Amino acid sequence: MTFHAKFSGYADPALHAAGLYIGGKWQSGSGITVLDPSTGNLLAEVADAAIEDAQRAVDAADAAAAGWRATPARQRSEILRRWYQLMTQHAEELATLIALENGKALADARGEVAYAAEFFRWYAEEATRIPGEFRHTPSGSHNILVDHEPIGIAVLITPWNFPAAMATRKIGPALAAGCTVILKPASETPLTAYATARLGEEAGVPPGVVNVLTTSNPGGITNAMLADPRVRKLSFTGSTGVGRVLLAEAAKSVVSCSMELGGNAPFIVFDDAHLEAALDGAMIAKMRNAGEACTAANRFYVQAGIHDAFVAGLTARMKSLKIGPGYDPETQCGPMITQNAVRKIDRLVSEALAAGARATTGGKPLTENGYFYPPTVLENVPVNASIAREEIFGPVAPVYKFESDDEAIRLANNTEYGLAAYIYSRDLKRAMKVGKRIETGMLGINRGLMSDPAAPFGGVKQSGLGREGGVTGILEFMEPKYFAVDY
Ligand code: NAD
Repeated sequence: MTFHAKFSGYADPALHAAGLYIGGKWQSGSGITVLDPSTGNLLAEVADAAIEDAQRAVDAADAAAAGWRATPARQRSEILRRWYQLMTQHAEELATLIALENGKALADARGEVAYAAEFFRWYAEEATRIPGEFRHTPSGSHNILVDHEPIGIAVLITPWNFPAAMATRKIGPALAAGCTVILKPASETPLTAYATARLGEEAGVPPGVVNVLTTSNPGGITNAMLADPRVRKLSFTGSTGVGRVLLAEAAKSVVSCSMELGGNAPFIVFDDAHLEAALDGAMIAKMRNAGEACTAANRFYVQAGIHDAFVAGLTARMKSLKIGPGYDPETQCGPMITQNAVRKIDRLVSEALAAGARATTGGKPLTENGYFYPPTVLENVPVNASIAREEIFGPVAPVYKFESDDEAIRLANNTEYGLAAYIYSRDLKRAMKVGKRIETGMLGINRGLMSDPAAPFGGVKQSGLGREGGVTGILEFMEPKYFAVDY
């Protein structure tokens, strides 16, 4: 492996080692170290917010709230549109920054920046189309008028795996709705969040409308903010475990919650699938971000007639991927985010191998510097192995053989999660019939990628509550108000 980094413009970590962004002011500090996951070396250090900083952020969001709410939708829209344009202009620097702190391959990072910026463009458009409603009561007694009002101050908590897109997917609809926000990005990847906030400042977001806090005490800071009666919304993306803790905390002040949580996506390949298309889709669904995606294919269920050809094709493709630091333009599979992530993948794979699975490629961590795990394919995996129940969050594809449609459906639904699923079949009627019976919020049919700002993103079961993106995403940041009107 060759390791080299090119830093320029917004991608210079020194430019982003600043710190908290509260009320339009930057406050430098230290305490949180950001590591390059391809070497484990120090990349930058950012400020570590204390509870008083979180209180100041709520004060700032509160001070800005009335002005932002009263700002005409067209003006809010134009600011979001400028923010989209600035992200697009700085796409290459932002992508380099993401590749540096997250480790994902540059091609994935570029894709993320484009996806992230699109949330600002989409919600710039939606800001001017907030719906209302007028009805007559069936009894004729009066008229029903429904307005949608901004819900109030929103706390946004994001994970490290999409440091730009998970932030813009929340900030875009919140600002379009007329809410002010406090963003708490993951400590592993704060630089992208700060860089994005700088561009927002340049786009004309007024002071206090967007505040950003990094902290090593996420529980303490979040609990303090949720206990403040001015905070009316929590929008969280992260693991189901932390989501459960936050739902319990939010219940104490009855704060509205949107939860984008973990996944365990099945990828079903029927005998009648187009093999090459299924392999192309499998590589995208598995290897985007080296498998560190909530929508990542976690369980490959492949029908008996196509099973061996699929395993051979997938093994060849996985074997050919070039491993290296994300910022090396040649890299196709970057490092995992932390050593702990590598340990978890190693545990799941070792348990599967001990239970009778066979690795056709990969199967143990790499020993070089950095947090690398090689692309791995496992066949003959028992359907009750721990790797079938837990999120792998890495470049490992366990393959299970099935015979009938009913068996595929039963296996696919045998999980507490329900975020994403994939089906490959040339028979659309069959794919739709099976798809209707899969417990999932999102389903890709003959596609390995489904995320789109114009579509509702989210899960059922323990994968979450609510939807982001699409036309409904903005309503997560609004409350309907009913006027009973006689005239
Ligand atoms: P995580 O739950 O550990 O952390 C997510 C965020 O929550 C981070 O900012 C973290 O600092 C913060 N956090 C942790 N403990 C907290 C607490 N007690 N109070 C408040 N905040 C707290 O998840 P992660 O490891 O950063 O991300 C990976 C997880 O996110 C996976 O489970 C993945 O499936 C999920 N994810 C879901 C989606 C989706 O849209 N459904 C998208 C991306 C990632």
